[in-house]
Amino acid sequence: MAGAEAIRAVMRGEVRGVGFRDATVRLARELAVMGWVRHGEDGTVQVHAEGDPTAVGQLMGYLGQGPPGARVAGVETEQVAVEGHEQFAIRGASAGVFVVQEHAATAHHFDLRLEVGGVMRSWAVPKGLSLDPAVKRFAVEVPDHDVEHNTFEGTLGGGGVIVWDRGTYEQGGRVAWPEALDRGHAVFVLRGEKLRGGFALQRTRPGAKAQWLLIKRRDADARPGSDIVAERPDSVLSGRTLGEILNDA
Ligand code: MN
Repeated sequence: MAGAEAIRAVMRGEVRGVGFRDATVRLARELAVMGWVRHGEDGTVQVHAEGDPTAVGQLMGYLGQGPPGARVAGVETEQVAVEGHEQFAIRGASAGVFVVQEHAATAHHFDLRLEVGGVMRSWAVPKGLSLDPAVKRFAVEVPDHDVEHNTFEGTLGGGGVIVWDRGTYEQGGRVAWPEALDRGHAVFVLRGEKLRGGFALQRTRPGAKAQWLLIKRRDADARPGSDIVAERPDSVLSGRTLGEILNDA
């Protein structure tokens, strides 16, 4: 946006437990300001706001007071680069559940499923996910699954399934979901038992059975050189491996 400005603000004081994030999102959306709000690890509320300078200024004025019940002791602001956000989002909040199921079928693979709009958007990942940011894992988009399937473990059509990992996830990026998926670039943060931190899904070929690359982002949860699939083959549900499930069948 021409003439746009971007500001980072950190609010200290009694700013938590008073609906600060929700109130900030509401006002930012009214003002057509883009960016995000999140809780800092030190009890602060942090905001990235970008857009028309007048509107950003209005939002900043509000952040100095906060919603009823807040007592803002101080605000630190810093002018930063405009990043091109297309939404104003709450960061650090769960968007739903995720599951990775290891699946012995005609071809062995892992199914990554993310809860989006009440269904599990799904990708078959032949080699599974990696915590090594240098590794790009090929993934094929497959039909949505019901949330009820997330806990399925056992034999299935001559093969079998284990719940290899599960947890909640956070939607990231500058574009709101599900549009981010529609456009073919979606960033998300997993909070599972094995998989943690930021990941990116990048579509390389659209259409039916769209092809994607799944990449670990470089953050504190990245583990260069690691192979989590080999290190942790056990089900997070039963502790059993897929091989054990198949041998007992
Ligand atoms: Mn599958």
